Amino acid sequence: MTLPTEPIGSIPRPAQLIGAGADLAAGRITTGDYARLAEAAVRLTIEELEATGSPVITDGEQGKPSFATYPLAGLDALAPDGVVIPFADGHTRQLPRLTAGPFRYANHAAGYLELALRYARVPVKQPVIAASALSLIYPPGGIDGYPREAFVADLVREAAADIRGALDNGAHSVQIDFTEGRLAVKLDPSGQLLASFIDLNNQVLAEFSPEEQRRIGVHTCPGGDQDSTHSADVDYAALLPGLFSLNVGTFYIQLASEPDRPRVLRAINEHARPGQRIFVGVIDPIDPRIETAEEVRDRVLEAATYIEPGRLGTCDDSGFAPFGDDTSTSRETAFAKIRARVAGTQLAAREFGL
Ligand SMILES: [Zn+2]
Repeated sequence: MTLPTEPIGSIPRPAQLIGAGADLAAGRITTGDYARLAEAAVRLTIEELEATGSPVITDGEQGKPSFATYPLAGLDALAPDGVVIPFADGHTRQLPRLTAGPFRYANHAAGYLELALRYARVPVKQPVIAASALSLIYPPGGIDGYPREAFVADLVREAAADIRGALDNGAHSVQIDFTEGRLAVKLDPSGQLLASFIDLNNQVLAEFSPEEQRRIGVHTCPGGDQDSTHSADVDYAALLPGLFSLNVGTFYIQLASEPDRPRVLRAINEHARPGQRIFVGVIDPIDPRIETAEEVRDRVLEAATYIEPGRLGTCDDSGFAPFGDDTSTSRETAFAKIRARVAGTQLAAREFGL
């Protein structure tokens, strides 16, 4: 198949692993106990993802506490009362707050990748969290003896090392999760917060050559947790011009769940820079209904009326369980949806004569 298709990242964890995550947090099991269960879940998830026919897979982010907080898991200088992210259904997630410097990642993406590559037979994409998301752990009031400028310098270096480690250790591609991009437009309609996020992430990307930047992508979505979102009410038109100024080769764009896809596709066509590849979301992980292959095909054909097929790819709108304890979607449903993505993308490729 020459029309590329990729998952975003997470697959719902097995119940046993979710239980072990709670046990680990409560100190009832060791990190070694947890790691053994996580490795078993990675192995099983990779087998099941490969069985869907997806030509590129991930490790399902089985061993990450969440898509955003894996660099923080195990750090001491954190307090629980950081930034609160409210979701549309009323539930919230809260980031930790950094209490002291210097800031270093406790876990880098290369560790997850190395484990996945032990079991995978097809190329593996490595998702990483954007520096802009982690910038939110620095308290607005500052930290004594560790000014914000010092934190940002540490963060840029650590985020670049996270990407570098995955690129150099055999990732097919590295995907930066930038779900806070759309949220930034909601928190600050003036656009200044979004601009500062983009500037920070471009500082990280400046560490890479143009060739390396082509293997790096950015994922945007309105958040996804417990079948709810945090910024779906934000107009894409306010996000996309800034989004495409990120110096990467690929964008993974939530689209299946958008109420007015043609409007978004027109904006993508207007603002994407030459050479940037567009993976359009054709599967909605929040919708419990399983899409048909024909629906997926039609979504790709719709996208191709705005974006030339040679620049297109397909993906899921988002991960299926970005936070480790999210059980709103079953593994069976996730894999069935991914099978529909793969089959529908193949149908579309045939229509294009690819
Ligand atoms: Zn997402």
